[in-house]
Amino acid sequence: MDFSFSADAEEFRVEVKAFLDEHLTPDVFLGTRDGTIHNDALHKKMADKGWIDGSIPAELGGGGRDPLDMLVLIEELQLAGAPCDGMAVAAVVAAIILELGNDHLKETVVPRIIDGESLCSFGYTEPDFGSDVASATTAAVRDGDDWVINGQKMWTTMAHVADFVLLLTRTNHDVPKHKGLTFFVVPLDTPGIEIQPVHTMGTERSNATFYDNVRIDDKWRIGEVDGGWAVMKSALKFERGIAGGQFPSATLIDAAVRAAQTNVRPDGTKAIDDPVVRQQIARAMIDLEVARCFAYNTAFLASEGVMFGVEGSMTKLFVSESYKKHSNWFFDMLGPDGLLSLDTPGAPEGGHIEEHFRHAPVTTIYGGTSEISRNLIATSHLGLPRS
Ligand SMILES: Cc1cc2nc3c(=O)[nH]c(=O)nc-3n(C[C@H](O)[C@H](O)[C@H](O)COP(=O)(O)OP(=O)(O)OC[C@H]3O[C@@H](n4cnc5c(N)ncnc54)[C@H](O)[C@@H]3O)c2cc1C
Repeated sequence: MDFSFSADAEEFRVEVKAFLDEHLTPDVFLGTRDGTIHNDALHKKMADKGWIDGSIPAELGGGGRDPLDMLVLIEELQLAGAPCDGMAVAAVVAAIILELGNDHLKETVVPRIIDGESLCSFGYTEPDFGSDVASATTAAVRDGDDWVINGQKMWTTMAHVADFVLLLTRTNHDVPKHKGLTFFVVPLDTPGIEIQPVHTMGTERSNATFYDNVRIDDKWRIGEVDGGWAVMKSALKFERGIAGGQFPSATLIDAAVRAAQTNVRPDGTKAIDDPVVRQQIARAMIDLEVARCFAYNTAFLASEGVMFGVEGSMTKLFVSESYKKHSNWFFDMLGPDGLLSLDTPGAPEGGHIEEHFRHAPVTTIYGGTSEISRNLIATSHLGLPRS
């Protein structure tokens, strides 16, 4: 069994690293301090490289790069801490439009996304429905050639910097819940849309979005009326294609090792002298390798044309839960000083371990919670009965 990457993928890794060395300058991180994990200039440069449409299959008109290349890209971006949350969402929305959208959406929205001019956001979750997203209540009612949308979405991340939201609406109350949904690609400057910030404990900024008699032409609809579930499935398919590589623990472990080796405790010892800490570091590094195996496996399946499902849930569950465990260990390791947050003078590792400690739990919620992932693994992989 050969776990090594192809020569092409390794060559691409060198190209990505060189790009990041050149463009990931300190000012790129400044704009992210309000929790918006995005930088316009970096995003446009990645678009110029053809990396935004790289994950979109060539048969749909995208860049059609090998999923292993995309894994390499995501891995290197994550290891470098590059602020690029906007990239994956934009690529997924462009891919869905190319697969299911009408000519208007293909001609007006896709080129702007691929050129890096426009960002997108996902408007699925509502205050009362996240895991059970098919129960969405935001209403779209037909009025001639238009639709009038009323409702509220929660956690519309990136909406405040995006031009479009991929909006899940209810268009039919008289059918089973999955069958009465319709999607729209709504321009976020349409009158009647209000965006309010939601700041998370994980530093990340998200949004609550309100839709008050928002009127849009039918040309902004994507997919069939009441056929929104097919659009949702397409979104999940493309999300899995790009979200393979997830290594949030990598930079945390690096910081923990540095802190353990350098910070002297009041009794004159260092954390690295403690066998429990050494064991935790070793265990975290093993978990990271396991996470790599999960991520590489899903990217490999995608590169072989296998439309994986439960493997994505396994990767997400293992990566986020182990990240949360590591962040607890290393936060504890720092003692009271560990409470000092980002940029506070004297904060160990500049406060980055404390930031990981706040960020890690959030990763067990978005993109499907750990409980939902466990349910999927139990029923789809282990064959356990649905409750
Ligand atoms: C920082 C952040 C960013 C996000 N960004 C976006 C975004 O851009 N767009 C978007 O649409 N959404 C986004 N989300 C929403 C996210 O996808 C939801 O929060 C998530 O799916 C959970 O939904 P919920 O919050 O409504 O919790 P609920 O679904 O109400 O769940 C509450 C608890 O009950 C558990 N639970 C629910 N159902 C079951 C079940 N059947 N079996 C066992 N346990 C269950 C859950 O695991 C959880 O612990 C974001 C969330 C966060 C925190």
